[in-house]
Amino acid sequence: MKLLILYKNLRRLSIIEIKFKEPIYVTRPLLPDVYDLNSKLKEVWESKWLTNSGPQQTKLELELKNYLDVENLSLFNNGTSALLLGLKALNLTGEVITTPFTFPATVQALDWNNLTPVFCDIEPTTLTLDAAKIEPLITEKTSAILGVHTFGNPCDVEQIQLIANKYNLKLIYDGAHTFGTNLNNKPIGYYGDMTMFSFHATKLFNTVEGGALTFRDNSLVEKLSLLKNFGIANPEEVVLSGLNAKLNEIQAVVGLEVLKLVETERKKRHQIKRAYESYLKDVPGINVLTKLEGECSSYQYFVIQIDEELYGKTRDWLHKKLKEYNVFTRKYFYPLCSDFEWYEHLESARKENLPVAQKAITQVLAMPFYGELQLESVEEICKVIRDSI
Ligand SMILES: *Cc1c(COP(=O)(O)O)cnc(C)c1O
Repeated sequence: MKLLILYKNLRRLSIIEIKFKEPIYVTRPLLPDVYDLNSKLKEVWESKWLTNSGPQQTKLELELKNYLDVENLSLFNNGTSALLLGLKALNLTGEVITTPFTFPATVQALDWNNLTPVFCDIEPTTLTLDAAKIEPLITEKTSAILGVHTFGNPCDVEQIQLIANKYNLKLIYDGAHTFGTNLNNKPIGYYGDMTMFSFHATKLFNTVEGGALTFRDNSLVEKLSLLKNFGIANPEEVVLSGLNAKLNEIQAVVGLEVLKLVETERKKRHQIKRAYESYLKDVPGINVLTKLEGECSSYQYFVIQIDEELYGKTRDWLHKKLKEYNVFTRKYFYPLCSDFEWYEHLESARKENLPVAQKAITQVLAMPFYGELQLESVEEICKVIRDSI
């Protein structure tokens, strides 16, 4: 009995010792040196041009076109409004086939266009749209497919394109997690009719808030610039009903500075990914979902999947356990979009139609992942995961 108490006390002691003094969050924004930023801000101050197609946003647009290796790119004040207006520009109607396993923005962009999401289940290794399940969902009303490159895992772009071609559907991707990703030696923006990128503070490349669309059809350049600026064509004419969705000069300046840091950040994240993988490789029931590396990886997230039967504990248990150690992981994505109350009436939203997605939301955990994360901290975090079984 005494021994047991001693053991328990020791365990408690070791927990306190290991517990991180400072909280470890799932991500930290990539921030430029404030002095570098200041000198650039000074230029903006002196120009007194704060928004509406200023020189900084024109420069950022060019640099991002280059970086993402695309012909057409339009900047927005955030990724959600980019997607919302991108869908609008494509004149979609009726139903759009999409994934339930995504961030709410994807489906809410459909809602704001009066488009009905038709939820298609995901496939279990990449957690992206299951191309084999799309065709049975197509009806007379279907106008597009909206895929998400989940956690930087690209969709089955070739198979989905074949389906889109066969039924004459538009194909749009939410590429919020795939900044700078290549697939089959092509930039990710090459695929589909349009791809949205998010430059939110939590994303690899950020402009504090911000986003972009890349697209194939040159005629959309003009239309998108109208849509994000109230449809104002010139001082005399308003030609369509738009929105205010412009990226401003301060966001652009932040973006120009952050862009200089992205390559170094990617290299650091590569090391962190490798460290996680080596410490977790023998743990039964822990599967890494973000396996891609190098040019093919966005290094946006490091996400694991916990198989309760093999690991012996649930994802929720581990999420809570890590919190005791001051480590804040994220159940991402959670909850499932098809379970939102306002989709209750949709046949495609029923739980039994989406078994893979329903399982994924109980198993997935995004781990702390950012360049400044120390490799020793990764080791400690993994120790908690390993010693918990
Ligand atoms: C971040 C994110 C968005 C939203 O982007 P914002 O720039 O925050 O509007 C959309 N979809 C996915 C998958 C995201 O991760």
